[in-house]
Amino acid sequence: MKDNIFDVIVVGSGAGGLAAAAAASKAKAKTLLLEAMPFVGGYINPYTVKDYSFDTGLHYLGELGKNGSFRKRLEKLCIWERVAFVEINPDCIGKYYFNDKVFCLPKGMENFKKRILTMFPNEKKAVESLIELLKDIQKAAAIGSKGPKHPEFTKYMPFFMKLMKKSYGQLIDEITNNQELKYIFSIMSGEAGLPPDRASAFTALILLHYLEGGYYPKGGSKALRDAFVDAIKENGGIIKTSHRVTKIYKNNGLFKVLTNKGEFLSKKVISDVDPKLTFTQLLDEKINVESLKKRALKLQPSIGSFYAFLVTDLDLEQLGLGDFNLIHTDTVDLNEAFDKWDEFKNFFLTVPTLKDRSCTCAPKNFHTIEVISMAPFEPFEKWANKPSRQRGDDYLKLKLSLGDRLLTKVERYIPNLRKHIVFKDFATPLSNYYWVNAPFGGDYGPNQTPSQMGPGRFPIKTNIDGFYLCGAGTLAGGIAPSIASGDIAGSLALKES
Ligand SMILES: Cc1cc2nc3c(=O)[nH]c(=O)nc-3n(C[C@H](O)[C@H](O)[C@H](O)COP(=O)(O)OP(=O)(O)OC[C@H]3O[C@@H](n4cnc5c(N)ncnc54)[C@H](O)[C@@H]3O)c2cc1C
Repeated sequence: MKDNIFDVIVVGSGAGGLAAAAAASKAKAKTLLLEAMPFVGGYINPYTVKDYSFDTGLHYLGELGKNGSFRKRLEKLCIWERVAFVEINPDCIGKYYFNDKVFCLPKGMENFKKRILTMFPNEKKAVESLIELLKDIQKAAAIGSKGPKHPEFTKYMPFFMKLMKKSYGQLIDEITNNQELKYIFSIMSGEAGLPPDRASAFTALILLHYLEGGYYPKGGSKALRDAFVDAIKENGGIIKTSHRVTKIYKNNGLFKVLTNKGEFLSKKVISDVDPKLTFTQLLDEKINVESLKKRALKLQPSIGSFYAFLVTDLDLEQLGLGDFNLIHTDTVDLNEAFDKWDEFKNFFLTVPTLKDRSCTCAPKNFHTIEVISMAPFEPFEKWANKPSRQRGDDYLKLKLSLGDRLLTKVERYIPNLRKHIVFKDFATPLSNYYWVNAPFGGDYGPNQTPSQMGPGRFPIKTNIDGFYLCGAGTLAGGIAPSIASGDIAGSLALKES
């Protein structure tokens, strides 16, 4: 067989692409993984600078307990035994600060319910209904993933239709008008980049994911990324970085994948590149599917983030921080918090050095801190065609002034932080745009609104023979769904020969 002919080519090495290459190479297919950037991993590639390393798109994971579905997936891909996961204190996975109150998200649905009822003793009926809603959404997702062959598919049809039309926030509004209760049940929609009133009900799966416990890879996202790289290489797979795919053609049953450094041929192609780019830029018109291209053109991207990467010499544990993620909200009206993004009314703060105490992401006695707040692309768009670190003084000035505003908010939790910062850097949605090729710098692939989730998301198996998709544009944004999609795509590509 010629050196440039493969059984499977995977385009893009995000979590989904890595899983697809791991699945295909594990089954002994001659596999090539092509990545545009010099580094593998997409959002699980860390930002490394000086003596420090920061996670970009992995802060915690769920469903990794004994019977967890994500754990089973990692076991199947032979990744589980290569990474050690540290469990976040199950009594407090996330600490939500709102209206002078603090709610600690515990592990387990029953504990969650008990804790909410302690805070809202008069809301028993609403809490029970909200938990029923969560369970219904979970069941609908499970049935939906099996398709019309599932015996309960028809029974759930009216509910599916409702989920396509109504947002998660609207479904909650049908149960309660208690804004604080709504906030607790829907704060995780922020981790899909949307306020509840615009988010699909399927974003509730994020809460369900973490109710099974919160976990962090020992060594950070790099450890998970490297486990995949090692597995692919041990399976005989080939990884080529700095190979940007520019066009995908098909001739006589073989795909021709064109890159900036030459072309490669294969029987099957799996794209981990956002569907918008896959269908509007990568696929040759002769093989493109009109209906998918039309949908791709209309796709709305998710929002990006303003990100602070910090290192401090403060004793953060003494100041009350821990392994939990801290979520601050000025207002329980999350719609308002999201619209006024540059006031940083809502942010997520995490301390990797307290999640993984053996972390080598900073020298001993220093802590790394990552603070994330949603930010749109438009305010930064005029610098989008400039490479990272070459966007000029105006961009730098804007970034620093926004960063300073965010640090003022953060000092509520870490007093005098600014005097104790030994390293700081800020990132805007342009980082996602440049480093991960994310359309409009979005964090989670296509926006997770009701019409772009469930059947509105892109299929793993396309109607182009031998061409598959994986990553955040398929099942949902997030590491676990992206890895699941990659595994499914890799397995399907081999089964359908
Ligand atoms: C700030 C932030 C925080 C997050 N936190 C969490 C979290 O705590 N837990 C969680 O589960 N999820 C989290 N996520 C979401 C999660 O990281 C992503 O949904 C997931 O990693 C996306 O994986 P993917 O397979 O879609 O690939 P991506 O990570 O999007 O990577 C795509 C890859 O394809 C490459 N590529 C693009 N175009 C080409 C081309 N033409 N040729 C070759 N290569 C190409 C890119 O360079 C990139 O490496 C977070 C995301 C962000 C941004």
